[in-house]
Amino acid sequence: MKHQPRKRFGQNFLVDAGVIAAIVAAIRPARADRIVEIGPGLGALTRPLLAAVEQMHAIEIDRDLAAALKREFAPRLTVHVADVLSFDFAALGSDLRIVGNLPYNVSTPLLFHIARYCAQVRDIHVMLQKEIVARMVAAPSDSNYGRLSVTLQYRFELKKLIEVPAAAFDPPPKIESAVVRLAPLRPPPFAARDEALFARIVKAAFSQRRKTLRNSLGAFLSDAELRSLAIAPTARAQELSVAQFVAIADYVSNRLTG
Ligand code: SAM
Repeated sequence: MKHQPRKRFGQNFLVDAGVIAAIVAAIRPARADRIVEIGPGLGALTRPLLAAVEQMHAIEIDRDLAAALKREFAPRLTVHVADVLSFDFAALGSDLRIVGNLPYNVSTPLLFHIARYCAQVRDIHVMLQKEIVARMVAAPSDSNYGRLSVTLQYRFELKKLIEVPAAAFDPPPKIESAVVRLAPLRPPPFAARDEALFARIVKAAFSQRRKTLRNSLGAFLSDAELRSLAIAPTARAQELSVAQFVAIADYVSNRLTG
């Protein structure tokens, strides 16, 4: 079909057959898998995925593309014309395998949104801006380590799989991309007593990355309390492991609730 790519929906379509095959090979779809594709676009990934599975769901915001996808792939593809940022993944059941070449303008909020459905998800394979993938998989003390790394590594095992050059897309974006896999950690190694508090503490700690914990977390706990957790008040957020953030959040939660 003839389609004029829409900038506002971040439409850069995959056209490199080698890259498409490599992504599908990394996903390893099996017949009974419950795959949910975000932003199928013109169907570059949908087509080979549907060749491997019985049924599939797709979430596409562009009505014209959604209509074309329905024409080509119904009834084996169920197309949800929706904004993925407000999509209720729980409605699709459990053991979901989420796949997507995401619109870059919504990638970070989308990751936070999907993280909420961790219990319903088997794994997630997404193409993102290379720099965002670097932030997701970064380890403590790496300059890319931050709120996104801690929030995602709390729930998921992450692995960068494939680097994808701009030339693999039409039109080519201004950035380089990478495919990353997120697999929920089961059983979860971390279970903060109060996850909302954990999220607030991680956010506060990284809000001014160069500040010491004494300054960024002063509203939550004192120097002496940090030291009691074997954390130096002069350390910076970037030096703390996920486990240490959980320890801080649990300590504060215990104190608040007695
Ligand atoms: N998967 C296709 C491919 O690889 O060629 C298209 C990728 S394109 C980068 C992103 C796709 O996501 C487009 O089809 C776009 O219309 C869709 N999209 C953009 N924003 C969306 C949103 N908020 N919710 C659902 N789909 C969205």
